[in-house]
This record gives sequence, C-alpha cells and structure tokens, in this order.
Amino acid sequence: MANSIAKGLLLSAAIMLLAACNDANTRPQIDIEGKTMGTFYSVKVSGTITESKQQLQQEIDALLEQANDDISTYRPDSVLSRFNQNPSADPQPIPRGMADIILTAQRIGRDTGGAMDITVGPLVNLWGFGPDKRVVKVPSQQQIEAARSQIGLQHLKLLSDNRGEWLQKDLPGMYVDLSTLGEGYGVDQLVQLMARKGITNYLVSVGGAVSSRGVNGQNQPWRVAIQKPTDRENAVQALVDLQGYGISTAGSYRNYFEQDGQRYSHVIDPVTGRPITHKLVSATVIAPTALEADGWDTGLMVLGTEKALKLAEEKGLAVYLITKTDDGFSAVMTPQFKAFLVK
Ligand code: ADP
Ligand code: MG
Repeated sequence: MANSIAKGLLLSAAIMLLAACNDANTRPQIDIEGKTMGTFYSVKVSGTITESKQQLQQEIDALLEQANDDISTYRPDSVLSRFNQNPSADPQPIPRGMADIILTAQRIGRDTGGAMDITVGPLVNLWGFGPDKRVVKVPSQQQIEAARSQIGLQHLKLLSDNRGEWLQKDLPGMYVDLSTLGEGYGVDQLVQLMARKGITNYLVSVGGAVSSRGVNGQNQPWRVAIQKPTDRENAVQALVDLQGYGISTAGSYRNYFEQDGQRYSHVIDPVTGRPITHKLVSATVIAPTALEADGWDTGLMVLGTEKALKLAEEKGLAVYLITKTDDGFSAVMTPQFKAFLVK
C-alpha cells in the first residue's frame, strides 16, 4: 500500500500488464481502472458478463473501500487504526478478512525469521514512512532502540471462536502496519469477487500485486511482464502466465528519502531497526494467493539476495530476484518460478 501515487508509475523492475491490442478482439473485453491504497488498480474481464461496466466498477470500488476501512493506517478510523490507538490488552474484534491477513503475516513472519514483521510500525513511523508527516532525518540509536522495544510478533495474538475473531496485544505501544500486504489483499478480494460472479477470464491488479486467470479479448492467456530494472524503455525481463496464481514485486528503490547522499528505503529490517541497504533491487514472488506473494516479497527483500534465495529454495517458492552488480544487474529465479514463464 504505497505512500505515493508516483510509485505506480515508476518503471524499474515493476510488474507490467500487457494489455491486449484493441484491434483483433474476438471476445468482448471490459477494462476498469481506478485508485486505491495510494496507488492504481486495474480489472480486465473478457467474455460476456451480466452487469454493466459501471455496475461492476461500483462493486469493485465498494470492495476496495471496505478493505481500506479495515486495514489502512492512513485512515484514523479504520479498524486497524482503532486497534493501534487503543493501548488496552483486551481482545478487540476484527473482521474476517483482517484475521486472514494477520494469520498469513504471522506465518510468513515466522518463516522469514522476523524479516517480514507487521508489528514494525513504530520503526516505520520513526523513519518517517508512516501516515504522519515525513521526518526525513536519520533517527538516533536511542530512538531506534525505544521503537524496537515496541515491536515483535510474539506480542500479538489472534483469537477466534464461533462468534468471531479478535486481536490482542501485550505491548501498549504496539503499532500494527499491514501496508505491505494491502495490495495483495486487495487483489485477492477482487479475485473473490470474480469467483462470486462466475467470471473465469480476468486480470486484476492493485499496485505491484496481480492475479489472472483464463484468456483476454484476443483469446490469448493474460501475460504479466516483469520489467528490466532500467527505466529507459518498457524492456521486458520475463513474461509469466499466472493461471489463477498471484504475483507481487517488492523493490527497495521505489520509496525512499535521501540524506547526505545515502538512500533510505521504506522497507525496514526489524533486526537492525534500520532501512535495508543491500544490493537486492527487487523480489518477485508467485504464490497461490496475491496476499501470500505480497508477504513473501517483503520478507525476501529484507533478507537480501543470498538469504532470500536460500529460503526460497528451502520452502520451494516461485521467486525471481534482481540484484545490482558493479556493471549492471543480475537476475536469478527458482525452478518453481520458471514453471510460470511463457515460452
Ligand atoms: P515496496 O515499495 O517494496 O512494494 P510496500 O509498499 O509493499 O513496499 O511495503 C513497504 C511498507 O511496508 C512500508 O512503507 C512500511 O509501512 C511496511 N514495512 C516496512 N518494513 C517492513 C517489514 N520488515 N515488514 C513488514 N512491513 C514493513
Ligand atoms: Mg510486499
């Protein structure tokens, strides 16, 4: 969930949707675009559908509005913001979708050894990447330690029974930040909307997260491109056919501030309490859901190329990493990722 609109426009190593040329369409195709979560969304559907484009867009907007009302830290009255503002250790009720996000985040948090950590909020805010005004100044070690004492997944509990689901914290200063999962969650919400409507030919995206299934208006499988990390042209580095899976890219170059010639990324390593500085430029993950892909890409981004690749191999993940080298960039992918490549 981006902090700036510009994010969606930057080219480097981003995921790019290959729109069908409009001439030779053999099936009707509807293209819907809009804004959400500080970025853009896109929904493309091919084939005949029962409602009008306008009706479908209204439903999409309502769904994404609801997601923001649940999990946005940019909305002071979202369910998540109210949880963060409330210092109480009592369980607080949360909606089902939010519980799904927390559950996935806890698992990926464990699997990445805490590299992906949704309790990282106090550090994100300290470094000026939260919803409040930017600090754009490097904090002191003392401030970093103070913020670090307020984080840790072990302090967050998800409770559920037949009445519903609750979230509980045992640190009053805890600040849960689901921003890095928002796009993937948004995509999964759209995928579920398609399923409810019986639509089986679609390509949906929110920011850097995408899912697609079936064929486009030209009766061809939808294709998603991973761009080269050079921004001169829309040079394609790899092309994939997702076949119902989700894909998400995390990249350290897209959102940062500069001080004394040093770039500070908005992705924070919870272990050091500082923005990541290594040479991994982007991490792209394909997974059964976009939420899952979005969680992993952040964790792998924090870990850096070597640890990320090792973990991806251990867990059998479909991963594509682009790393800055002395004379350019190098790319590496796991065999699971290769299986999605368009030949
Ligand atoms: P990218 O620009 O790489 O796509 P995202 O926008 O998906 O990144 O996520 C970055 C946001 O995630 C930050 O602005 C912050 O709110 C949050 N964040 C930063 N570090 C972490 C981390 N280690 N684990 C989870 N969330 C993080
Ligand atoms: Mg992510």
